[in-house]
Amino acid sequence: MTVQHGADPAAAARAQGAARAGNTAAGSTGPAAAGSTGPAAAGSTGPGPRLKELIAEQEEIFVRRQPNSARLAARAPARLAGGVTSSWQITAPQPVWLSHGRGSKVYDVDGNEYVDLHGGYGAALAGHAHPAIAEAIASQAGRGTHFAQPTPDALAVAEELSRRFGLPRWRFANSGTEATMDAVHLMRSITGRDLIIKAEGCYHGHHDSVQVSVAPAPDEAGPKHKPASAPSSTGIPRAITDLTLVAAFNDLGGVARLLDEHKDRVAGMIVEPIMMNAGIIHPEPGYLAALRDLLHEHEALLTFDEVKTGLTVGPGGVTRAENVRPDLITLAKSLGGGVAVAAIGGTEAVMDHVAAGGYEMVGTFNGNPLAMAATRAMLTEVATPRAYQKIEELRRRAKTGIERHITDSGLTAHVVTAGAKGCVVFAARPVTDYRGFLAVEDSYSHAHWLYQHNRGVFLPPWGKIEQWLISVQHDEADIDRLVHNFGVFARAAAGAGA
Ligand code: PLP
Repeated sequence: MTVQHGADPAAAARAQGAARAGNTAAGSTGPAAAGSTGPAAAGSTGPGPRLKELIAEQEEIFVRRQPNSARLAARAPARLAGGVTSSWQITAPQPVWLSHGRGSKVYDVDGNEYVDLHGGYGAALAGHAHPAIAEAIASQAGRGTHFAQPTPDALAVAEELSRRFGLPRWRFANSGTEATMDAVHLMRSITGRDLIIKAEGCYHGHHDSVQVSVAPAPDEAGPKHKPASAPSSTGIPRAITDLTLVAAFNDLGGVARLLDEHKDRVAGMIVEPIMMNAGIIHPEPGYLAALRDLLHEHEALLTFDEVKTGLTVGPGGVTRAENVRPDLITLAKSLGGGVAVAAIGGTEAVMDHVAAGGYEMVGTFNGNPLAMAATRAMLTEVATPRAYQKIEELRRRAKTGIERHITDSGLTAHVVTAGAKGCVVFAARPVTDYRGFLAVEDSYSHAHWLYQHNRGVFLPPWGKIEQWLISVQHDEADIDRLVHNFGVFARAAAGAGA
């Protein structure tokens, strides 16, 4: 991804943010539009004049509905770099400042209510202020929030994760980034090899080894069947980027070639088993099992990064749904019911290495009692079989409802879902890898996001990259609002790309 530097750090953040989104907010006067030079924008054809008009119209309504957010957005940059707390909160036409959340809803500082399908970038499977999570946090808070010693909740959580994901031993961390960093270190430490492989278009957090070919622009991505290792952030030495080799998702041949070309030098591969930082891209049948077998033939390891998919696609993630046991699993996001926590699961062999001191897996807040109490409640009281059944009904309702509007309006689009997650892909044919994703015109997603937002549904920003998350607290009326709004959008947007 091409990241521009400048004297203004906010501008740099905007450029980075826009590059993530490929945000083509044509009518926008907002920050993402200012840096709208992203790779996805470069890969697609750009909006037609009618779509530009629709976006401009909706962005005007958006800003008009949120005067208090506008005031905070104007005040914030003096003290918060870029006016936000994470660069990906910079969205066009302006960041939305929230006041609180309850159940399936969030409320902005202007008092507008939204059905929350953003879910804090996939971390709010519990919804908001879930009584079981609130009670677990309050109860632990009254008994101390940090000891740096194990507590019984940590063991209960590890036992439940073992049961769900089929890997015997676990450790904890505080974010998805930390979890995947430990997984990469472990693969290297166990094998004594430096190289790793990742799939083009997968995001695994912001540590050095995986900030490679996350969203490369067409001119830096290299040939489709032999992708280049393109840096995805500034501040990472080329020497480290070069240790990460890149293959297309769903391309076993590409991985086999890398393993042959770099014989006995590859420690392992990290992959999102369902890609969820490029819309939703499912693995082809047999891909995950064959990938594991191929890596094992070369005495290399496989990590499933289930930070996003973990609890959201089902109780035991893709691992259980596909019945493929990797060497390592990373979890975060929804695991803690909205509290910062991550987990790393490993096979006996992997975790024996840790137990024997072969790799020191450490962190002051690892297994923090507050996080463990919330996670225990999440696993035992919130993410229950009944909750998954309800989510499945809502998934079907959303998918069929939106598909009906696609058919009726003639809009070129299709719906992809995986458990609680789903998205509309504005393309005729299913996407199977990052290059296919790159070619999808992003402006439709941005326009759709605005239409939903202005009508009380908060989808994740960042257009075609992200997905909705249905929480355990959503109901049919919430989904009906999503579907209804989509219908309004589809009727307005059909034919608008020309
Ligand atoms: N892995 C995946 C698949 C992710 O989607 C993310 C974040 O979006 C991460 C890792 C990093 O997690 P965190 O933002 O908690 O560091």
